[in-house]
Amino acid sequence: MRKPIIAGNWKMFKLISDAVAAATALKPLVANANHCEVVIAPPFTALKAVADRLEGSNIHVSAQDLAPEIKHGAHTGEVCGDMIKDAGCSHVIIGHSERRAMYGDTDAVVNRKIRAALHFGLTPIVCIGETLDERDAGNAEKVVATQLAQSLAELTASEVIRIVLAYEPVWAIGTGRTATPEQAQQMHAFIRQWIAQQFDATAASDLRILYGGSVKPENISDLMRAADIDGALVGGASLEAESFS
Ligand code: PEP
Repeated sequence: MRKPIIAGNWKMFKLISDAVAAATALKPLVANANHCEVVIAPPFTALKAVADRLEGSNIHVSAQDLAPEIKHGAHTGEVCGDMIKDAGCSHVIIGHSERRAMYGDTDAVVNRKIRAALHFGLTPIVCIGETLDERDAGNAEKVVATQLAQSLAELTASEVIRIVLAYEPVWAIGTGRTATPEQAQQMHAFIRQWIAQQFDATAASDLRILYGGSVKPENISDLMRAADIDGALVGGASLEAESFS
């Protein structure tokens, strides 16, 4: 049985005090949410303060990125996986489409970051998804398969089970345009089948695949009814505790 995950990506929003206030507000709202795992991803500067505030609660804290290196060194601006763990995180988002589009995170970089996260015992939430042009050209599955092949290159089935995938069609992120539950289910089923073919049936059936792209209180129930959707990665609607809960 795959336990669903509802993860909130706060992106580059919230000063430390705002992040702690939002986490404090969320805590009682999800205290009884035993049916799913709750994860929030504040910006780097707020990770430690939020993790301290949430200690002992059922909310996991995630970073939004990490360095591909596993050794400390001269990498100005980068944050190593053990530093993220040290700040109280259990998860890390990797390969978000904004990082791919704006900061040069290629599939090869994503692969190195996944290895680094696994090395430090962090759960990677690995984002994949096609652009609108790629979908309109009928290439959505091909693009996602290529992202999977390169991002998960040379990982073992037991490593893949430790990953969470997030299918986030780029055209649905921050646009208010959600994939229909049918469109999302079709891609999630394709991804699970791809994992079964490239790794094994256990990895495919245990792997949690989240949907992301304009998920809101109004559409989450329909999306969650789809057989292969195991939760959501939520951007905009996660910034406010009430709507996220
Ligand atoms: C995201 O940032 O991963 C995301 C899906 O954003 P939004 O929910 O705002 O579309």
